[in-house]
Amino acid sequence: MNLTGTVYRPPYEANSLLLQVTLGCSHNQCTFCYMYPDVQFTVCPMEQIEADLEEAAQQVPNVRRVFLEHGDAFVLSADRLTEIAEAIHRYLPKVETIAMYASIQNIKHKTDEELRRLRALGINGLDVGVESGLDAALQYMNKGHTAEEARVQLLRLTEAGYDYSFNTILGCGGAELWKENAEATAQLINAVQPHLLFIGSLHAAPGCRLYQDMKNGVFQECTCGQLLDEQEHLLRLLELKDTYYFGSHPSNLVPMQGRLPMHQADMIAAVQDMRQKLDGHLDEFPVRAGGEGSILTR
Ligand code: SF4
Repeated sequence: MNLTGTVYRPPYEANSLLLQVTLGCSHNQCTFCYMYPDVQFTVCPMEQIEADLEEAAQQVPNVRRVFLEHGDAFVLSADRLTEIAEAIHRYLPKVETIAMYASIQNIKHKTDEELRRLRALGINGLDVGVESGLDAALQYMNKGHTAEEARVQLLRLTEAGYDYSFNTILGCGGAELWKENAEATAQLINAVQPHLLFIGSLHAAPGCRLYQDMKNGVFQECTCGQLLDEQEHLLRLLELKDTYYFGSHPSNLVPMQGRLPMHQADMIAAVQDMRQKLDGHLDEFPVRAGGEGSILTR
Protein backbone atom coordinates (compact mmCIF):
# COMPACT_ATOMS: atom_id res chain seq x y z
CA MET A 1 0.00 0.00 0.00
CA ASN A 2 1.14 3.48 -0.82
CA LEU A 3 0.97 5.46 2.47
CA THR A 4 3.00 8.66 2.58
CA GLY A 5 4.20 10.50 5.69
CA THR A 6 3.02 9.96 9.25
CA VAL A 7 -0.30 8.16 9.27
CA TYR A 8 -2.89 9.02 11.92
CA ARG A 9 -6.09 7.07 12.43
CA PRO A 10 -8.63 6.73 15.24
CA PRO A 11 -7.83 3.81 17.58
CA TYR A 12 -11.02 1.98 16.62
CA GLU A 13 -9.85 1.85 12.99
CA ALA A 14 -6.99 -0.52 13.90
CA ASN A 15 -8.43 -3.33 11.75
CA SER A 16 -9.52 -1.14 8.86
CA LEU A 17 -7.73 -0.92 5.54
CA LEU A 18 -6.03 2.50 5.43
CA LEU A 19 -6.35 3.94 1.93
CA GLN A 20 -4.61 7.19 1.06
CA VAL A 21 -6.79 9.54 -0.97
CA THR A 22 -5.32 12.89 0.14
CA LEU A 23 -2.03 14.04 1.57
CA GLY A 24 -2.06 16.33 4.64
CA CYS A 25 -5.01 18.45 5.76
CA SER A 26 -6.79 21.11 3.71
CA HIS A 27 -7.20 23.32 6.83
CA ASN A 28 -3.86 22.69 8.56
CA GLN A 29 -4.31 25.69 10.87
CA CYS A 30 -5.61 24.35 14.18
CA THR A 31 -3.60 25.98 16.97
CA PHE A 32 -2.91 22.66 18.74
CA CYS A 33 -2.21 20.53 15.66
CA TYR A 34 1.23 19.10 14.95
CA MET A 35 0.13 16.40 12.53
CA TYR A 36 1.02 17.76 9.10
CA PRO A 37 3.14 20.90 9.66
CA ASP A 38 5.16 20.70 6.44
CA VAL A 39 2.82 18.71 4.24
CA GLN A 40 1.33 20.47 1.23
CA PHE A 41 -2.31 19.38 0.95
CA THR A 42 -2.68 17.24 -2.18
CA VAL A 43 -5.48 15.19 -3.70
CA CYS A 44 -4.18 11.76 -4.73
CA PRO A 45 -4.72 10.75 -8.36
CA MET A 46 -7.35 8.05 -9.02
CA GLU A 47 -4.69 5.90 -10.75
CA GLN A 48 -2.72 5.70 -7.48
CA ILE A 49 -5.86 4.90 -5.48
CA GLU A 50 -6.87 2.16 -7.94
CA ALA A 51 -3.35 0.69 -7.87
CA ASP A 52 -3.55 0.51 -4.05
CA LEU A 53 -6.99 -1.09 -4.24
CA GLU A 54 -5.71 -3.68 -6.71
CA GLU A 55 -2.94 -4.58 -4.24
CA ALA A 56 -5.44 -4.67 -1.36
CA ALA A 57 -7.71 -7.00 -3.36
CA GLN A 58 -4.79 -9.48 -3.47
CA GLN A 59 -3.74 -9.07 0.15
CA VAL A 60 -6.94 -8.44 2.15
CA PRO A 61 -9.86 -9.46 -0.09
CA ASN A 62 -12.23 -9.94 2.86
CA VAL A 63 -11.76 -6.54 4.49
CA ARG A 64 -15.05 -4.93 5.59
CA ARG A 65 -14.00 -1.45 6.60
CA VAL A 66 -11.81 1.13 4.89
CA PHE A 67 -10.48 4.35 6.47
CA LEU A 68 -9.54 7.09 4.02
CA GLU A 69 -6.35 9.04 4.82
CA HIS A 70 -5.19 11.80 5.64
CA GLY A 71 -6.37 14.68 7.87
CA ASP A 72 -9.77 15.61 6.42
CA ALA A 73 -10.55 13.33 3.47
CA PHE A 74 -14.21 14.39 3.58
CA VAL A 75 -13.02 17.67 2.02
CA LEU A 76 -13.08 15.85 -1.33
CA SER A 77 -16.00 16.69 -3.57
CA ALA A 78 -19.03 14.41 -3.51
CA ASP A 79 -18.17 13.35 -7.07
CA ARG A 80 -14.61 12.35 -6.15
CA LEU A 81 -15.79 10.51 -3.04
CA THR A 82 -18.39 8.72 -5.17
CA GLU A 83 -15.66 7.67 -7.61
CA ILE A 84 -13.49 6.41 -4.74
CA ALA A 85 -16.36 4.54 -3.03
CA GLU A 86 -17.38 2.87 -6.31
CA ALA A 87 -13.77 1.79 -6.91
CA ILE A 88 -13.54 0.39 -3.36
CA HIS A 89 -16.71 -1.70 -3.86
CA ARG A 90 -15.44 -2.90 -7.25
CA TYR A 91 -12.11 -4.16 -5.90
CA LEU A 92 -13.26 -5.11 -2.38
CA PRO A 93 -16.88 -6.27 -2.62
CA LYS A 94 -17.13 -7.18 1.09
CA VAL A 95 -16.52 -3.61 2.28
CA GLU A 96 -19.50 -2.31 4.27
CA THR A 97 -18.17 0.97 5.68
CA ILE A 98 -15.90 3.69 4.36
CA ALA A 99 -14.87 6.05 7.18
CA MET A 100 -12.61 9.12 7.36
CA TYR A 101 -11.83 12.30 9.28
CA ALA A 102 -14.16 15.20 8.54
CA SER A 103 -14.37 18.83 9.59
CA ILE A 104 -17.54 20.83 10.15
CA GLN A 105 -16.65 22.88 7.06
CA ASN A 106 -16.31 19.69 4.98
CA ILE A 107 -19.91 18.79 5.91
CA LYS A 108 -21.17 22.33 5.31
CA HIS A 109 -19.85 22.26 1.76
CA LYS A 110 -22.00 19.27 0.81
CA THR A 111 -25.69 19.42 -0.03
CA ASP A 112 -28.25 17.22 1.71
CA GLU A 113 -28.61 15.22 -1.51
CA GLU A 114 -24.82 14.69 -1.68
CA LEU A 115 -24.68 13.59 1.96
CA ARG A 116 -27.43 11.04 1.33
CA ARG A 117 -25.79 9.81 -1.88
CA LEU A 118 -22.46 9.26 -0.12
CA ARG A 119 -24.16 7.52 2.79
CA ALA A 120 -25.86 5.13 0.34
CA LEU A 121 -22.38 4.25 -0.98
CA GLY A 122 -21.30 3.03 2.47
CA ILE A 123 -19.62 6.21 3.71
CA ASN A 124 -20.22 6.40 7.46
CA GLY A 125 -18.43 6.58 10.82
CA LEU A 126 -17.07 10.05 10.12
CA ASP A 127 -14.61 11.22 12.73
CA VAL A 128 -15.45 14.87 13.29
CA GLY A 129 -13.02 17.21 15.09
CA VAL A 130 -15.53 19.42 16.90
CA GLU A 131 -13.24 19.84 19.95
CA SER A 132 -15.43 22.25 21.98
CA GLY A 133 -18.83 23.88 22.22
CA LEU A 134 -17.36 27.15 23.47
CA ASP A 135 -16.87 29.79 20.78
CA ALA A 136 -13.96 31.46 22.61
CA ALA A 137 -12.11 28.13 22.66
CA LEU A 138 -13.00 27.32 19.05
CA GLN A 139 -11.76 30.71 17.96
CA TYR A 140 -8.45 30.43 19.81
CA MET A 141 -7.98 26.89 18.51
CA ASN A 142 -8.63 28.24 15.00
CA LYS A 143 -11.02 25.42 14.17
CA GLY A 144 -12.80 27.35 11.42
CA HIS A 145 -16.29 26.77 12.82
CA THR A 146 -18.55 28.09 15.57
CA ALA A 147 -20.54 26.01 18.03
CA GLU A 148 -23.75 26.88 16.20
CA GLU A 149 -22.29 25.80 12.85
CA ALA A 150 -21.23 22.53 14.46
CA ARG A 151 -24.74 21.97 15.84
CA VAL A 152 -26.40 22.61 12.47
CA GLN A 153 -23.97 20.48 10.44
CA LEU A 154 -23.96 17.55 12.86
CA LEU A 155 -27.76 17.47 12.84
CA ARG A 156 -27.60 17.42 9.01
CA LEU A 157 -25.33 14.37 9.25
CA THR A 158 -27.78 12.58 11.54
CA GLU A 159 -30.67 13.52 9.26
CA ALA A 160 -28.77 11.99 6.32
CA GLY A 161 -28.36 8.72 8.27
CA TYR A 162 -24.75 8.93 9.48
CA ASP A 163 -23.23 7.64 12.69
CA TYR A 164 -20.24 9.78 13.56
CA SER A 165 -17.71 10.40 16.28
CA PHE A 166 -17.90 13.76 18.06
CA ASN A 167 -14.28 14.43 18.99
CA THR A 168 -13.73 16.73 21.93
CA ILE A 169 -10.68 17.91 23.87
CA LEU A 170 -10.72 18.47 27.62
CA GLY A 171 -8.78 21.59 28.55
CA CYS A 172 -9.56 23.43 25.31
CA GLY A 173 -10.64 26.52 27.23
CA GLY A 174 -7.48 26.54 29.32
CA ALA A 175 -7.29 27.23 33.06
CA GLU A 176 -9.56 30.29 32.85
CA LEU A 177 -12.44 28.71 30.99
CA TRP A 178 -12.49 25.04 32.01
CA LYS A 179 -15.96 25.36 33.54
CA GLU A 180 -17.45 27.32 30.63
CA ASN A 181 -15.85 24.84 28.24
CA ALA A 182 -17.44 21.87 30.00
CA GLU A 183 -20.87 23.56 30.06
CA ALA A 184 -20.90 24.73 26.44
CA THR A 185 -19.51 21.43 25.18
CA ALA A 186 -22.08 19.41 27.14
CA GLN A 187 -24.83 21.62 25.72
CA LEU A 188 -23.64 20.98 22.16
CA ILE A 189 -23.22 17.23 22.71
CA ASN A 190 -26.72 17.00 24.22
CA ALA A 191 -28.17 18.92 21.28
CA VAL A 192 -26.74 16.58 18.65
CA GLN A 193 -26.77 13.20 20.50
CA PRO A 194 -23.72 11.66 18.78
CA HIS A 195 -23.32 7.93 18.29
CA LEU A 196 -19.74 8.11 19.62
CA LEU A 197 -17.99 10.60 21.87
CA PHE A 198 -14.21 10.62 21.56
CA ILE A 199 -12.49 12.38 24.46
CA GLY A 200 -8.86 13.47 24.52
CA SER A 201 -7.02 16.08 26.63
CA LEU A 202 -5.22 19.12 25.36
CA HIS A 203 -1.50 18.75 24.90
CA ALA A 204 1.01 20.56 22.76
CA ALA A 205 4.00 19.34 20.82
CA PRO A 206 6.83 21.40 19.34
CA GLY A 207 5.83 22.71 15.94
CA CYS A 208 2.36 23.99 16.82
CA ARG A 209 1.32 27.49 17.92
CA LEU A 210 -0.15 26.20 21.17
CA TYR A 211 3.29 24.93 22.24
CA GLN A 212 4.75 28.43 21.87
CA ASP A 213 1.74 30.05 23.53
CA MET A 214 2.04 27.73 26.54
CA LYS A 215 5.75 28.44 26.86
CA ASN A 216 5.19 32.19 26.62
CA GLY A 217 2.28 32.16 29.05
CA VAL A 218 -0.21 33.31 26.40
CA PHE A 219 -2.26 30.17 26.99
CA GLN A 220 -2.65 28.88 30.54
CA GLU A 221 -2.82 25.09 30.56
CA CYS A 222 -5.24 23.34 32.96
CA THR A 223 -3.74 21.72 36.04
CA CYS A 224 -4.46 18.05 36.80
CA GLY A 225 -7.17 19.19 39.23
CA GLN A 226 -8.82 21.44 36.65
CA LEU A 227 -8.78 18.69 34.03
CA LEU A 228 -10.51 16.36 36.48
CA ASP A 229 -13.00 19.06 37.48
CA GLU A 230 -13.80 19.71 33.82
CA GLN A 231 -14.23 16.02 33.07
CA GLU A 232 -16.53 15.48 36.04
CA HIS A 233 -18.55 18.62 35.26
CA LEU A 234 -18.95 17.51 31.64
CA LEU A 235 -19.99 14.00 32.64
CA ARG A 236 -22.58 15.35 35.10
CA LEU A 237 -24.11 17.61 32.46
CA LEU A 238 -24.42 15.05 29.69
CA GLU A 239 -27.98 14.02 28.95
CA LEU A 240 -27.60 11.35 26.31
CA LYS A 241 -29.97 8.68 25.08
CA ASP A 242 -27.37 6.18 23.87
CA THR A 243 -23.79 7.28 23.18
CA TYR A 244 -20.56 5.32 23.41
CA TYR A 245 -17.94 7.25 25.40
CA PHE A 246 -14.46 6.47 24.10
CA GLY A 247 -11.98 8.06 26.46
CA SER A 248 -9.05 5.66 26.28
CA HIS A 249 -6.79 8.19 24.60
CA PRO A 250 -3.31 8.22 26.22
CA SER A 251 -3.59 11.97 26.86
CA ASN A 252 -6.37 11.47 29.44
CA LEU A 253 -5.79 11.38 33.19
CA VAL A 254 -8.66 8.92 33.49
CA PRO A 255 -8.68 6.63 30.46
CA MET A 256 -12.04 4.86 30.26
CA GLN A 257 -14.80 3.69 27.96
CA GLY A 258 -18.47 3.04 28.50
CA ARG A 259 -21.99 3.62 27.37
CA LEU A 260 -23.94 6.72 28.37
CA PRO A 261 -26.16 7.06 30.27
CA MET A 262 -25.69 3.47 31.51
CA HIS A 263 -22.16 3.93 32.92
CA GLN A 264 -22.36 7.64 33.74
CA ALA A 265 -22.28 7.20 37.55
CA ASP A 266 -19.33 4.75 37.33
CA MET A 267 -17.41 7.17 35.17
CA ILE A 268 -17.98 10.06 37.56
CA ALA A 269 -16.78 7.80 40.40
CA ALA A 270 -13.62 6.95 38.40
CA VAL A 271 -12.82 10.66 38.04
CA GLN A 272 -13.36 11.16 41.78
CA ASP A 273 -11.07 8.19 42.54
CA MET A 274 -8.33 9.75 40.43
CA ARG A 275 -8.77 13.05 42.29
CA GLN A 276 -8.14 11.19 45.55
CA LYS A 277 -5.09 9.41 44.11
CA LEU A 278 -3.62 12.72 42.98
CA ASP A 279 -4.31 14.45 46.27
CA GLY A 280 -1.41 16.80 46.95
CA HIS A 281 -0.57 17.03 43.23
CA LEU A 282 -3.77 18.55 41.86
CA ASP A 283 -2.14 21.94 41.29
CA GLU A 284 0.56 20.38 39.13
CA PHE A 285 0.45 20.12 35.36
CA PRO A 286 0.24 16.70 33.72
CA VAL A 287 3.64 15.40 32.70
CA ARG A 288 3.52 14.19 29.15
CA ALA A 289 5.94 12.18 27.06
CA GLY A 290 5.80 10.07 23.96
CA GLY A 291 3.17 10.01 21.27
CA GLU A 292 -0.15 11.87 21.36
CA GLY A 293 0.44 13.57 24.72
CA SER A 294 0.72 10.35 26.74
CA ILE A 295 0.51 10.96 30.48
CA LEU A 296 3.87 10.01 31.99
CA THR A 297 3.11 10.26 35.68
CA ARG A 298 -0.16 9.91 37.51
S1 SF4 B 1 -8.44 19.74 10.95
FE1 SF4 B 1 -7.41 18.08 12.06
S2 SF4 B 1 -5.58 17.58 10.84
FE2 SF4 B 1 -6.34 19.56 10.14
S3 SF4 B 1 -5.17 21.09 11.30
FE3 SF4 B 1 -7.07 20.71 12.44
S4 SF4 B 1 -6.59 19.06 13.90
FE4 SF4 B 1 -4.96 19.11 12.35
